[in-house]
Amino acid sequence: MNKLYVVGIGPGDRNMMTKTALDILKECKVIVGYKTYTDLIKPLLPDKEYISTGMGDEAKRCSLALERADMGDKTAVISSGDPEVYGMAGLCIELGKNYPDVDIEIIAGVTAALSGGALAGAPLGHDFAVISLSDLLTPWEKIELRLELSARADMAVCLYNPSSKKRGDYLKRACDIILAYRKEDTVCALVKNIGRPGENCQILTLGQLRNTSTDMFTTVFIGNSQTVRIGKYMVTPRGYSLREV
Ligand code: SAH
Repeated sequence: MNKLYVVGIGPGDRNMMTKTALDILKECKVIVGYKTYTDLIKPLLPDKEYISTGMGDEAKRCSLALERADMGDKTAVISSGDPEVYGMAGLCIELGKNYPDVDIEIIAGVTAALSGGALAGAPLGHDFAVISLSDLLTPWEKIELRLELSARADMAVCLYNPSSKKRGDYLKRACDIILAYRKEDTVCALVKNIGRPGENCQILTLGQLRNTSTDMFTTVFIGNSQTVRIGKYMVTPRGYSLREV
């Protein structure tokens, strides 16, 4: 059967891509993805046919990939991190309904919450919510509600897409919602350019986070009420027991 793989390539560093992901990309003839990601893979696998489209062309990218797979060319759509998490897996499966002869396989990758979490220590050691601040595909009111309910439920929160040029104050707005339920000195982290040049992790308080500007290559961690700072790390303990850390 014709094959389309939807492959998570991890945060950027080659060593953070799974062996399965690399083996599958090696087998494929065509690699399709957003330009930033095809540029990451090209040096590793220069002999492939690359199809890259810009941001916002997701449906077109998936359809192009499905068409090539339908023609019998082994094809991979690549997503950074994991392809399910704000990635292309869902869309490929949906559009794949029109291509009954193409078998779609999803290859997991290390998502930014986990690769970034490791750089920050253990921010997600207990229940957590992952929320994207991008309102391109989700109404802002729904994002606000999710922030509020996660804060009320005292979950650690990991924010993707914390900001962009058009959405300069979204992180501030998100912090304000969370600050209604959590103290200003709640331990937080900003992790930038995971697995890429300029990789950086900064631990700060929720009050400081509110007044910080970020970019699209940043993942944000907001601790729960139990989260502590230990040296260069933030740690959300596994339980709410009174045991001393
Ligand atoms: N599928 C991706 C997420 C895509 S959404 C994944 O599983 O990781 C894009 C958002 O992910 C960015 O705005 C940022 O918040 C986060 N992100 C992805 N790669 C990152 C990296 N290398 N460093 C920091 N944040 C990253």
